[in-house]
Amino acid sequence: MKRRQFLGASSAVLAFASVGAWYWPQRWDYIVVHHSAGDFGNIEFLQKVHRERQAKDPVDAIPYHYIIGNGNGLGLGEVDSDWRETFSIWGAHVSRNNSDRNFRGLGICLIGNYEKHAVPDKQYAALVDLTRTLMQKYGIPVNHVTGHGLTAGESTKCPGKNFPMAQFLADIASTGLG
Ligand SMILES: [Zn+2]
Repeated sequence: MKRRQFLGASSAVLAFASVGAWYWPQRWDYIVVHHSAGDFGNIEFLQKVHRERQAKDPVDAIPYHYIIGNGNGLGLGEVDSDWRETFSIWGAHVSRNNSDRNFRGLGICLIGNYEKHAVPDKQYAALVDLTRTLMQKYGIPVNHVTGHGLTAGESTKCPGKNFPMAQFLADIASTGLG
């Protein structure tokens, strides 16, 4: 698909999604944590990867709502997003087995490969902060926060065996949303 077609489709999706968001501002009910599986990443790079891997997605944006940098492409612990987040558009970060987690789930992607490396402290702290903020903003309970590969129906190692899932769940549990 050509870049121009992407943009045409995206404008239509954008118009629709803006109206949808107006009527359903509290749609977000899940959070799914990912890693990018590559050592370099920022919005521009992930948009390019998404165009190549999911060419049928009419939304010309990263598949996630937020990314958190590892200092290589985006600052360590820096949070960034594109218009999928700005206009509350559904995600494209899990498989069709979990459509609800795409449609009503916020995707957060840590830049880096945490199958190979340990998650840097500053990036991890930014993830905890962002997750807690989103849980409070949308009333998302702890048991609706998962790692991609730990979500039933998904077969992936994402966000990697070195992602400290037990610690993460303990750190966000104190938001008091059950
Ligand atoms: Zn993932």
